[in-house]
Amino acid sequence: MALKVFINGELFDKDDAKISVFDHGLLFGDGIFEGMRAYSGKVFEMGPHLDRLWESARAIHLEIPGTKDEMAAAVNQTLQANELSDAYVRLIVTRGTGTLGLDAHLCKNPQVIIITDKISLYPEKFYEEGLDLVTAATIRNHPAALSPRVKSLNYLNNILAKIEGARAGCVEALMLNHKGEVAECTGDNIFIVRKGKLLTPPIDAGILEGITRNAVIQLAAKLGIECLEQPFTRHDVFVCDECFLTGSAAEVIPVVRLDDRSIGDGKPGPMTQQLRKAFTALVHGS
Ligand code: PMP
Repeated sequence: MALKVFINGELFDKDDAKISVFDHGLLFGDGIFEGMRAYSGKVFEMGPHLDRLWESARAIHLEIPGTKDEMAAAVNQTLQANELSDAYVRLIVTRGTGTLGLDAHLCKNPQVIIITDKISLYPEKFYEEGLDLVTAATIRNHPAALSPRVKSLNYLNNILAKIEGARAGCVEALMLNHKGEVAECTGDNIFIVRKGKLLTPPIDAGILEGITRNAVIQLAAKLGIECLEQPFTRHDVFVCDECFLTGSAAEVIPVVRLDDRSIGDGKPGPMTQQLRKAFTALVHGS
């Protein structure tokens, strides 16, 4: 059975799922998206994902057609049509078809696209042994230029950093902000553990407010782990006891090296493992 893709209320076979080459999503990265995970047929934190999508839309003057309930129903319809229960869901809203000029007002119909597919995760070995990261020379977008809180289709900032990571043999790269503080990775948020406390950069460090990040902060509170949202530097990562990343696709993944320095004892740490276990239990509804 061909994979079905949702475009503006209709399901198309993957090969027939097409949009205009004049769509400003393609021409300029003018649009927004969400990346979500379904576990046993149910999307994890669909509400917060849709809230973030609507907030991104507001920030870029984009009117999403329909309501959040209708969007949730469309996501579920696409998952069911593809008979997928454990899946990755990509929800995209582009500015729509316009001219070759920048004028967004000429794009009258935003396009809603929903792609669901099997999850392609980091290889299992990274969950067991931890990731090796490098710091990218490319800094995260300045919030006053294009706020990282907007999950826009313009991912070139992150892609450039990811290329730097790949060229250094790493699957993820650390991005600093314009102040030289740790921001996040190219597609994941970052946490460190120092003296029994959890630290993660605050939203105004210029990061995406990750849904997984928020879930981990809440889990930490439940487990009696103090979690501080406060700025820290690359040096703090070098000298921390543990480090891990969070994201809808990656879930909770340990980091054991940064820029050729071992973190802690160079193995995934106990708090990382505890939070990973708690997150797995949460997404599986137990
Ligand atoms: N930061 C960036 C830049 C991202 O693209 C993502 C999502 N892939 C994340 C953080 C993690 O966010 P979430 O937990 O909502 O998936």
